[in-house]
Amino acid sequence: MSQADAPPSLLGRAIDPRAALQADLTERSDSLLVARHAFPHALLLTGSEGSGLSGLAGALAAGLLCDQPAANGGACGECSACRLLAAGNHPDLLWLSPAEADEPAGRKASVQIRVEAVRQLIATLALSPHHGAMRVSIIQPAEAMNPATANALLKVLEEPPPGNVLLLISHRPMRLLPTIRSRCLQVRVVATDAAAAPAEGVEAELAAFLRDPAPDTLARASWPAQRALIDALARGERIGVPAASRISGLGLAAALDVLSRWVHDLARVRAGGQPRFLPSRAAELARVAAHADLQGLLQMGRRLAEWQRHAGHPLIAGLTVADILLEYRAELFPPARTAA
Ligand SMILES: [Zn+2]
Repeated sequence: MSQADAPPSLLGRAIDPRAALQADLTERSDSLLVARHAFPHALLLTGSEGSGLSGLAGALAAGLLCDQPAANGGACGECSACRLLAAGNHPDLLWLSPAEADEPAGRKASVQIRVEAVRQLIATLALSPHHGAMRVSIIQPAEAMNPATANALLKVLEEPPPGNVLLLISHRPMRLLPTIRSRCLQVRVVATDAAAAPAEGVEAELAAFLRDPAPDTLARASWPAQRALIDALARGERIGVPAASRISGLGLAAALDVLSRWVHDLARVRAGGQPRFLPSRAAELARVAAHADLQGLLQMGRRLAEWQRHAGHPLIAGLTVADILLEYRAELFPPARTAA
């Protein structure tokens, strides 16, 4: 099958690589793009309407497809790949949306992504990219896939052919099959102008949590033990209690210190920002943040602050690092909510 056989809904969306480099998008896409070689093969971008998900997906695609990306991973805007993107002609950018133009006249435009379109996409992914080493497929909105369509996509989502990255965009991720969500690295994007809009519920809690004074710079008192704890935290829901010998040098205060920074950075990443204390662990933070229960994360953040304030109290001083990690795991990864 040649590229020309692809249905109209797969091709022909122009991206202006320069516009994609606007400051607000650059900040969000930076942390994802610097690790281009380790870019997740399937990313689920979620956020409310108006949070700029298409623009972010475009910026990520442009950065990934650019022949000579900038140091921050963003597109150069000059190379032949960028020019093809700007013209809407890049052969390795596929954009899958509900079919509109190809509906018979008089019929209501489809709101679903049809299974034939996904089959066509899968067939295309099996071919080598045309221009460079990568191909980016954007599916928008992902909730427009009906169950049959979503099921057709599952296998390729789990292990796309080499060189392929799939970007799923969803304003209503809870409408997606859990099997779709679990195969993607989920990145929640908060609208840049969200500060002006009244946030509600847990979003407001997250914003309030991040407004609180952040912990100071990480002390390097017992670095190997701190690192062992961070390595354990980076395992996300599979966190175990690190071997006692490896964290034995870490007192309660230092452990609370590491944990509160880790949790703070998780909240920042979850809110669409970048880690402040552990930037070198950005990819792991993103993965863990995507799977963590947000209410539990905030609850754990509040509890850690409480423990730190009363660290001298005998009840608190009796806590072990293992106790705290068990509580952390129960809060962030409650079994009922992570079963999917
Ligand atoms: Zn370029």
